[in-house]
Amino acid sequence: TAEGEELEAATFIVGTEPTFPPFEMTDESGAITGFDIELIKAIAEDQGFEVEIQSIGFDALIPAVQSGNIDIIASGMTITEAREEQVDFSAPYIDAGLAIAVAADNGDVSSIDDLQGLVASVQIGSTGHEKAQELMDAGVLSEVKTFNTVDVVMMELVNGGADVVINDLPVTQAYMVQQPGTIKIAGEKLESESYGFAVRSGNEELLTMIDTGLQNVIEDGTYDEIQSKYFS
Ligand code: GLN
Repeated sequence: TAEGEELEAATFIVGTEPTFPPFEMTDESGAITGFDIELIKAIAEDQGFEVEIQSIGFDALIPAVQSGNIDIIASGMTITEAREEQVDFSAPYIDAGLAIAVAADNGDVSSIDDLQGLVASVQIGSTGHEKAQELMDAGVLSEVKTFNTVDVVMMELVNGGADVVINDLPVTQAYMVQQPGTIKIAGEKLESESYGFAVRSGNEELLTMIDTGLQNVIEDGTYDEIQSKYFS
């Protein structure tokens, strides 16, 4: 046997916050799946490494990769300048953006200009949280309620504890399909954002594998297959 075959493949721990369908979620069997998860697994297969998926709070992901508790973040994480100072991002792998959601029967909010005095519900540490905080600091929103998981963020809106949710558009759209008649999107997409996989700053070896693998799975059609499975 060739020597290479006897070497055990390296295993990298992938951290994700799995209340973010269709990017990451838990299936009936309790396994974590979703677009990001299948994509990082395809990249791993292309590059010959193994992955182990770990569920972690969204605001704990960057500290976990910095401390070495996890190797890769695959969690619908937007590439931002502030985060670039803390971790290294792969090439962008999908475009998303923020949207405002309101209760389905809300007739008062049709754009970002209608948020005066309202209460927002957001996921802690997300770009939606950042946006809500900006609107709070500008004296527009009256309160920003933060929660660890997106299901609870949405529940707060549905139960009337908040007037608006600021969250990633594709995830809000997925919620509208799952829970029809509960919420709707108000106005246009607020910002354009791109997601990247993140590794510890300076972990060039792993970042190169991810970027090369990403390029390969885009070229061989695997990326399109995964995309059409989750965004049909
Ligand atoms: N894309 C948003 C961010 O990076 C939200 C991600 C998430 O909640 N999983 O902050």
